[in-house]
Amino acid sequence: MIKFLDLKKSNKKYEEQLKLAFNNFIDSGYYILGNGVTNFENEFASYCGTKHCIGVANGLDALTLIFRGYIEMGLLKKGDEVIVPANTYIASVLAISENDLVPVFVEPNAYTYLVEASEIKKHFTEKTKAILVVHLYGGLVEVEEIRKIVSTKTLIVEDSAQAHGSISSEGLKAGNLGNASGFSFYPTKNLGALGDGGAVTTNDLQLANTILKLRNYGGIVRNVNEIKGINSRLHDIQARFLSVKLNDLENLNSRRREIAKQYIKGINNIKVDLPLWDKSNNHVFHQFVIKSEFRNELKDFLFKNGVQTDIHYPTAITKQGAFTEYSDLEFPITFMLHSKILSLPIYPELTDVEVHKVITIVNKF
Ligand SMILES: *Cc1c(COP(=O)(O)O)cnc(C)c1O
Repeated sequence: MIKFLDLKKSNKKYEEQLKLAFNNFIDSGYYILGNGVTNFENEFASYCGTKHCIGVANGLDALTLIFRGYIEMGLLKKGDEVIVPANTYIASVLAISENDLVPVFVEPNAYTYLVEASEIKKHFTEKTKAILVVHLYGGLVEVEEIRKIVSTKTLIVEDSAQAHGSISSEGLKAGNLGNASGFSFYPTKNLGALGDGGAVTTNDLQLANTILKLRNYGGIVRNVNEIKGINSRLHDIQARFLSVKLNDLENLNSRRREIAKQYIKGINNIKVDLPLWDKSNNHVFHQFVIKSEFRNELKDFLFKNGVQTDIHYPTAITKQGAFTEYSDLEFPITFMLHSKILSLPIYPELTDVEVHKVITIVNKF
């Protein structure tokens, strides 16, 4: 069976280094916000090309604290509208609703799965105060184009949870394209911890300082609570693991792109649509998502022939019980995608033989 993901295999490569990191962690005697976190924050800011990186507990908190930070700074207030793609993961929308901001859903391009400036323009009003762009599946949204059509005061926040290392045509990395960005280091992401983890990157010193406080009970100095914060700290042990894996991220992303090229070259079944990609480094293939009219049959056929697949995601957010207030809204492209999309295995440890087996079976369908 070719597994959809094999996290044990993914982490086994780094076993020696991870054990060394763990030993150093024990010996440090400092288990919350220690050197492991500070070092990783510096390394990840430098990797993304941003001035600041603040480690937090997970990706949802990273996004939630960005909006909360802007509320603290007086740049956003309850009821302000935030444009967000309708076909994202639910965390993107929860970060908005959790702050009493109002999500305004927009449709993606049916071939790249990403939102575009033209669609955002249609929904941009004077109530729009922020845009949450989601680099879904690892493909980079064209933030430069969006910047041109919104007001200069509009905050552009990136959800980079699936796009660590994606590079724009201007040479900027995900996390450095808007005003602030949230990352997740959930174990399955391109840069994955061995547990939960997340980070905010930004070039805005005031936002960085606000989030440093928010993640730690509202203060940086012990027993000084300047604002009402929460407890959302990146674990020092996970930060140390992430430093080990960050060193190899470029290789991992190249291997993902290599597999994507093999899929695109090899798959020629007319019942299958391939994702649109210009072969540049603006994609890190967190997922390789194909479309088919016969998605469920294709999924069963692949499984019976020894290939596990997954669906990201089977149900639109507006059709979830959590967001019934939006259940009457129509999103034809998004709903079509949820019924047709299928994710093929694309983790870097897949062998060429396995990739070719997947191609052969898809073509046989
Ligand atoms: C994984 C993910 C998140 C949330 O990350 P967690 O670490 O699980 O909280 C947010 N947005 C997107 C697009 C994701 O894929």
